[in-house]
Amino acid sequence: MTHLHMYIDGAWVKAESGATRKIVNPASGEAVAEAADGGTADARRAIEAARRAFDSGVWSSRPPAQRAAVLLAVADRLEASAEELAALETQDNGKPLRESLIDIADAANCFRYYAGLITKPHGETYDVADPVQAMVVHEPVGVCGLIVPWNYPLLIAVWKLAPALAAGNTVVFKPSELTPVTAVKLFEIFESVGIPQGVANLVMGPGATVGQEIAESGLVDKVSFTGGTATGRSIMRAAAGNIKNISLELGGKSPNIVFADADFETAVDYALFAIFANSGQVCAAGSRLLLEESIHDRFVERLVERAKLIRTGPGNEEGVEMGPLVSEAHMEKVLHYIELGRQEGAKLVCGGSRMTAEGLDRGYFVEPTIFTDVTPEMRIVREEIFGPVLVVQKFKDEDEAVRIANDSDYGLAAGVFSTDGAKALRVVKRLRAGITWINTFHNAYNEAPWGGYKQSGIGRGLGTRGLSEFTEVKQININLQVQPIGWYAN
Ligand code: NAD
Repeated sequence: MTHLHMYIDGAWVKAESGATRKIVNPASGEAVAEAADGGTADARRAIEAARRAFDSGVWSSRPPAQRAAVLLAVADRLEASAEELAALETQDNGKPLRESLIDIADAANCFRYYAGLITKPHGETYDVADPVQAMVVHEPVGVCGLIVPWNYPLLIAVWKLAPALAAGNTVVFKPSELTPVTAVKLFEIFESVGIPQGVANLVMGPGATVGQEIAESGLVDKVSFTGGTATGRSIMRAAAGNIKNISLELGGKSPNIVFADADFETAVDYALFAIFANSGQVCAAGSRLLLEESIHDRFVERLVERAKLIRTGPGNEEGVEMGPLVSEAHMEKVLHYIELGRQEGAKLVCGGSRMTAEGLDRGYFVEPTIFTDVTPEMRIVREEIFGPVLVVQKFKDEDEAVRIANDSDYGLAAGVFSTDGAKALRVVKRLRAGITWINTFHNAYNEAPWGGYKQSGIGRGLGTRGLSEFTEVKQININLQVQPIGWYAN
């Protein structure tokens, strides 16, 4: 069995306590690796190493072009190992291989994007008042704690690591305790391309200890977190101690609105993709489908017909379109929500059970599940389930569609399907969501800002804003006529 170590201060180490955790393939329930299970002491060592490295200027004082060259080398190596990394991601997380391959390619391109961006002009000058020239420069924030979930283990790690390192910060990175495998590979790449000692540290272990220490530590300047909204709230509290700079990418319950004038088959196709990609374990999943009344029954019928045909199985098998859920505990949570939906009186029109056919029985597979006849107060309508469970709501007109769509504590993403371009844009502009799509769903680009309104988060990842999240802004005022101010008479 593979043993995975943490990378702290330029060395591969076990947990100080010696604890390890089994890493399980969710398609088979079998342990595939054993990972160091760090604790508070390990997190502290990593934080101290990152602090020393930042204060020494070993990374931040390198010219941006030199940091960029290192990040470009990381991108090349990710790409060269794409097949191996994708296979590991599928084994660790369960997602179909074709999804893992896209994640690895996106991760390599994210390093390239920020390697490019950091060498471009950034900063401003202002002609404020004669004889003062004002200018603004961007500097690294310092020691950044990066905490990520298990649904895109490598990709979301890179969404944070690439801009943080490009900007000259040092980092303490914590993967989800369920899915650390590709992160370990990435840190092996960091070591091989010569990222200096202490600049990039990897600590594995539970959120309650390792994550909490990162969020709380007075030596950490910033915490960038992606995960559940409840965890985000606790991180925000912990980060208050030293008024950390925080970025939060949290949960969602995103609406996907289909008008009667939409291209029918396109909308059905995307509605399936919106909720069943990565088995619904996507923060931006289109988990609430809003259908205009006149197409509701026909649309649901076609949706169910196609959902039943989704080829579910181990992600490494040829032709598999949907994998298992990430863990037994998560599967139990999703099944519990399905049961709750039944009890709340929603109508189950598709799926609803764990899959127990031969070959799937030891894994954590749940059928594509669809509920109709739901009401706005039902928990399956309001809460993030994070699994292959769709609720279908009905609307009469544009106003009602907007009202239902916005009736959520979340505001991460939203989709609108209509062939009336003006209407689609009108509706999108009224939606309280940070990421919106018209006649498409799930697109995410390195160039465009990613993040949510309301309880879906604070700040934006990716794009130029994703770099800003990892920089401080410094105003510099220069007096061009050096002489006394003359404020005091004597
Ligand atoms: P989670 O919140 O349970 O865990 C995320 C990370 O936080 C893990 O590394 C975990 O160990 C750590 N953690 C847990 N408790 C902590 C604490 N008290 N202090 C510090 N760290 C702690 O989330 P998850 O179950 O891994 O992932 C699913 C959630 O992530 C969903 O809610 C999903 O919507 C969200 N998510 C959001 C985005 C986005 O971009 N908005 C992307 C992916 C996932």
